[in-house]
Order: sequence, then structure tokens, then C-alpha cells
Amino acid sequence: MVSLHNAVRYWAGRAPERCALVYAGQRIGYGDLERRVQHAAALLAAQGIAKGDVVALLMKNSAAFIELSLAVGHLGAVLLPINYRLGAEEVEFILRHAGAKLLLADEEFPLPTGVLPQVLHVNSKAQADSRRLGPATPCKEGDLVRPEDLFRLMYTSGTTDRPKGVMHSYQNYHWKCLDHISALGLTEHSRLLVVGPLYHVGAFDLPGLAVLMTGGMLAVVRDFSEEAVLSLIARERLTGAWLAPVMLSRLLAHERRSAHDVSSMQWVIGGGERTPEQRIRDFGSLFGHARYIDAYGLTETCSGDTMMDPDREIEKIGSTGRALAHVEIRVCDDTGTPLPAGEDGEICLRGPKVTCGYWRDEARTRASFHGGDWFRTGDVGYLDAEGYLFLTDRKKDMIISGGENIASSEVERVLYQMPQVAEAAAIGLPDERWGECVVAVVVLKAGESLDLPQLLTFCSGRLGGFKTPKKLFIRTELPRNASGKVLKRDLRDLLGASAL
Ligand code: ATP
Repeated sequence: MVSLHNAVRYWAGRAPERCALVYAGQRIGYGDLERRVQHAAALLAAQGIAKGDVVALLMKNSAAFIELSLAVGHLGAVLLPINYRLGAEEVEFILRHAGAKLLLADEEFPLPTGVLPQVLHVNSKAQADSRRLGPATPCKEGDLVRPEDLFRLMYTSGTTDRPKGVMHSYQNYHWKCLDHISALGLTEHSRLLVVGPLYHVGAFDLPGLAVLMTGGMLAVVRDFSEEAVLSLIARERLTGAWLAPVMLSRLLAHERRSAHDVSSMQWVIGGGERTPEQRIRDFGSLFGHARYIDAYGLTETCSGDTMMDPDREIEKIGSTGRALAHVEIRVCDDTGTPLPAGEDGEICLRGPKVTCGYWRDEARTRASFHGGDWFRTGDVGYLDAEGYLFLTDRKKDMIISGGENIASSEVERVLYQMPQVAEAAAIGLPDERWGECVVAVVVLKAGESLDLPQLLTFCSGRLGGFKTPKKLFIRTELPRNASGKVLKRDLRDLLGASAL
């Protein structure tokens, strides 16, 4: 068997009392986790789930989420974690498109009707008492599961397009674990926070469940709050976490932050979107000597393809670090020809953790690779002479005004330098004269005000005229997906309509 469950069984046989999971005030040892996974696998098998069947989870973070994910792997079935913030129609689209056989959903979510043969509600909020589970019925071992078999279908967040079902094989996931274990130095002493949603690669993969391979521990938070996160870090002496940049900024701004001793933290990984430079500089004010590691990756590569090296985060500020051991990076022109260091082009990735393509979508799969195995990320950037990756923008977020390509991230970098601005996004809106014009959307810090003339004065000298925003929208918040990424498509729809 090739699933992550093997590692749990391994540690259950050697250190059954060692804590594997902390959730809702309970500590679950490896021995107990192994029994729970066996039990969950037996329940799934009783529902007719076997190798190759797609099992969907519509669940918030919980111990049950992790147990069920391991159980799905144990049977050689295919995990389909779904974003519970999606609308009913979107959930139904994914369930249908993936061909799911069973949906397991938290009780608080309404169940779609008529889409699936089987739907079950799960009570994952509280931690179930393991004594009530009874002895696990030994589950029937499925057919032999091979490394190239499908482990997971993950629908991308769809910030730029309709969700696509990214296929991950068991070996994709294993190579990911290997790279993350070595890059982050995970051991049995690693105690990691899981606070991002587990249906997304950020929480599940960066480095997420990989710590179960090394016999370490995961502390799972159901819903983000500053107090929940900081008090858990202090209580469990946690050593590492993936935090979406927006979560990090909320922790840094939290007024009671100094009430918690978070000195056990060795690193925080960011990524998923650009971390404003000031946030990297402010990181030490809360986390002391811990490392801030910006990481770049995609759902298509199980996340975390580059990571910043220790002690170079300030010197190389603006970079997302260098490729991990089994990741190759090329920056290419549109024909797939590699470009020299320092030149902007499309970032392409190759390696054993890269998806083999999109589920039931050969056309998009074909269009996403150069030469068969170089995955085209749709991100624009360059490598410096030392191999550090700098992201310039996403292809689809480029603003084209008067025939000039404008990287929205460049505009945002300047907006973030304004003392009044807490959050910022730059988008292009249709413009009769220029095709598109640059528009700034900002959330202001408490008590601040800002108008367009002030913005123009600030930008003058910092941005070329054609890059300077022509309109300013002030909002109380920016629409973000669950991993904290600004939904520019939603912003364009929202503001496009109001600007006409
Ligand atoms: P869709 O593919 O549907 O548009 P998405 O791209 O948001 O959705 P994800 O796989 O969650 O889906 O995000 C990957 C993208 O996030 C990358 O392609 C890149 O644009 C961005 N990203 C990831 N890490 C970083 C980082 N460290 N800095 C800046 N941007 C990042």
C-alpha cells in the first residue's frame, strides 16, 4: 500500500502513545488514530467504497477530516475535498464533474439533492469519544494500490477561471511530502498548526499531513480567530505553520498578541498570494527569531515548489525562494523556449509532484504543458542568477492599457506603501480609450481617509503615468477565497458593473 495511512500504522506500532493530533481540546495518540482510521475505512467500505471510487468531503477542519482522508487513501479510493464556501450550484458542478460516489458533509451544510447516489452527514465539530466507536471491523483491503493511481481530485479555487479538477496521484503526494520534510527539517518533534481550510493545498499539503510521516503532531483549528491560533501555539508549544498572508496580518495586528508566548515557533510559511514586504519586515515583532518562509506553488503541483532560504528573506525580499530538491523551474516564452536569467516569462515547472493533468479535460491538460512535461503555471516572473524566483504577475491578472502590459502586483506594491492603506488590489476595468484602465481598490486602516488626488500625488514618481490608477474604490473588505487570495474576478464583476 502506498498511502499516508502506512506511516500512521508504522508509528502506531512503535509509539502508540505519542500525540498525532490535537483537536477541540483532545489529544489523539498514533495508536488511537490508527484505530480511528481503520474504523472510518470500515464505514466507507460498508458504503460500497473501494479502490478508484471518488469520495467527496464537504467539511470544516476537524480530526474527522484527517481520519476520513487517511481512510480514503487506505482503501485506494480518491479523495475529493470541496470548498464549503462555494454556492450549491458550484458544489453540484464539482460532484457531478468528478463523478463522486459518496459525499460526507458536516451537519451544518445543506446536502445537495439528486446529484449523488449516497450522501451522509458527519458530526465533526466535537471530537467523538473513541470508546464509543467500538472495535473496528477489519476493512477489506482493496486491490493493490499503485503509486501512479489517483489519490485526490482537487478543484482549483477558480480565482481566474471555472474550477478545474486537478489530479494528484499517490506518488505526486509522496514526492511532495519528501520535498517538504527535507526543506523544513520535519521530525517527530515537529508540532504543526493547521488553521487554513483542509480542502485547500495550503493547509493539507504545505506541509500539512506530511508531518505524520515523521511521527510529528498536527494541531487542528476549525475556524480562524487570532485568539484561537495564538493560544493554541502557546499551549501546545507549536513549531511551525502555514498561514495565508491575510491571516498573518491579522495576527500581527491583534491587540492581545503579546499576552501569548509564541516563542516555540521556528517557522511560518506564507504563500498563495504575494506577502506585502512590510509584513515580512514586521514578522519578527510577533514571532521573534522564527523564520518567515515565503513559498510559491500551485494546486497543480501539490503546493510548495520554491521556498525562501533561512536568513535571506530580507536580502532577497520580493522573491519566493529557490526550487525544492525535486522541482525544476524554467522561465519560458510563449513557444516554450527557456529564457535567460533576469528575463520575464511564463514560469514552467517539472518534477514528480506535478499533476498529470485535469480530470476529464484533455484540451485544458494539453494546453497546460510545454513539451509534454513542463507545466505552464500561467504566472509571469524571472529567475535571478542564483536561481531565486521572482513573481511579476499572473498572466490573467495582467492589465493591458493602451497596449502596455501592466503587472497588477507592481501597482499593489506602491499602494501598500501608502500609510493609510491596510489592503490593496489593482485590477483593469474596460475603458473606451485605453482598452483597460488601472483601478485601485483599497481597504483603509482604522480612522484613515484617502481620495484620488492624494493617491495620484503619492504615485507620481513611483509609478509610470500609464500604470497609475485612474479610479479609486474604497471598500470595507476585499473579496477573498478561503485561502486568503483576493478574488479579482469578483472585484472586476462588482466594480465593472458599478463603474459603467
Ligand atoms: P485558478 O487556477 O482557478 O485561477 P488559483 O490560481 O488561485 O485558481 P491556487 O492553485 O490556489 O489556484 O493558487 C496558485 C497561484 O497562487 C499561483 O499560480 C500564483 O499565481 C499564486 N501564488 C502562489 N504562491 C504565491 C506567492 N508566494 N506569491 C505570490 N503569488 C503566489
